[in-house]
Amino acid sequence: MTTSPFVVLKDVAKRWAGQLGVEGISLDIPEGSFTALLGPSGCGKSTTLRLLAGLELPDEGAIIIDGKDVTTSAASDRNLSMVFQSYALFPHLSVAENVVFGLKVRRVPKKERQQKLHRALEITGLLGYEDRKPGELSGGQRQRVALARAIVAGQRLCLMDEPLSNLDAKLRNSVRKDIKKLQRDLGITVVYVTHDQTEAMSMADTVVLMKDGRIQQVGSPEELYSKPSNTFVAEFVGAPP
Ligand code: ADP
Ligand code: MG
Repeated sequence: MTTSPFVVLKDVAKRWAGQLGVEGISLDIPEGSFTALLGPSGCGKSTTLRLLAGLELPDEGAIIIDGKDVTTSAASDRNLSMVFQSYALFPHLSVAENVVFGLKVRRVPKKERQQKLHRALEITGLLGYEDRKPGELSGGQRQRVALARAIVAGQRLCLMDEPLSNLDAKLRNSVRKDIKKLQRDLGITVVYVTHDQTEAMSMADTVVLMKDGRIQQVGSPEELYSKPSNTFVAEFVGAPP
């Protein structure tokens, strides 16, 4: 883990026909860190993540990943993986086929695919489920398949957009721990979108609290709680006034 920023956003803005997505987004994200983008619905969390992923291109600003300016690069050139709230699994493919799908597309040799599959299923606790279809799994297991698919790609940067919001409270807790353990064990950099302050505060090293398309405060969970920069932050994290 280094302290020089692995991901940099410099004054990034995105608008659609006058509709503000985000504005003035500047962030330095160190390698191996867990950063949560937190804030109420519509504040620009997903837009920020989609800009990082290359699923949207910014109107202003620059995005640098691992020293490379990717501001206008296609999503496929950004060397990152993504996990969404809606698993995005292929229903007709088995767990194993879903997990290695991207490796097959990239023509990774079969033996290497098998090894990577085994390791990803081991890490996510899915060994023995290789032949099941997504429809034969619980919500938590499906989300773990989506995690395995992200891990198997072997990227150092993983973007997650509300990956737990389709799970019930109990599952949320256990998958939350799985994600945290994965991130630590693999030393990957995670940027994690959530509207749930408990989730952000319990998982992240750094919390980026957003409102109306702008960053309100960046800091450790403790900093946001003990030194909120304005009343919105204080109220959102539930800090004493
Ligand atoms: P969050 O993920 O925090 O709920 P979003 O990033 O999805 O918020 O949205 C931020 C703002 O950008 C919202 O006002 C939303 O309506 C707007 N927005 C997002 N995507 C689009 C789009 N494709 N076209 C127009 N407006 C959009
Ligand atoms: Mg969103």
